[in-house]
Amino acid sequence: MYYFRRIFGVVVVTVSNVVLICKIVKMILPIYLYGQPVLRKATDEIEPGDFDLKQLVADMQETLTAAEGCGLAAPQIGKSIRLFIVDGSDLAEDFPECAGLKKTFVNPEIIEESEETVSYPEGCLSLPGISENVVRPRTITIRYQDEDFNEHTDTYTDFAARIILHEYDHLEAHVFTDRISPIRKQFVKGKLTNIAKGKTSARYRTKH
Ligand SMILES: [Zn+2]
Repeated sequence: MYYFRRIFGVVVVTVSNVVLICKIVKMILPIYLYGQPVLRKATDEIEPGDFDLKQLVADMQETLTAAEGCGLAAPQIGKSIRLFIVDGSDLAEDFPECAGLKKTFVNPEIIEESEETVSYPEGCLSLPGISENVVRPRTITIRYQDEDFNEHTDTYTDFAARIILHEYDHLEAHVFTDRISPIRKQFVKGKLTNIAKGKTSARYRTKH
């Protein structure tokens, strides 16, 4: 999901009283745009040891920072696996519920959604130049694992819930324009076709 933000991280490791500053080598990955089949594919559960999850998450965080987004799902970097990251920490001034929201969600499952809904504009790094109102539950409860495969169950509201639901949708092979009204779908149809044909520009690295 797209929103302006800035974050940079360094990992500090202490070994036998010696403090080493280890910068994980991170890579900015291309973001797959609308029209890429991977955005419409079912995603697989991740098992411990399948691949270097921490490296992939570090690369996704670097990619998200470079793109100034607030969420990124694995299908958006070409991987059909159940993983997304969110970083709403820079949004806390406008959305207090996003304070400290910098997290990795592995094998997530939405287990509860409120009946109360909220409509608000969304954008997506895979659909540059499009912003449309999307109706979503105001509150959600999600069960997921972190990067160390520890289980968590958390409840989120308002914009924090929206970011998470937007990214979760990517794992279910949806993009946010699937959820807009039929009349707005007609309105964005041409824009989506252009993105799929590569007739778009973004200030971050993309693949189309
Ligand atoms: Zn998105």
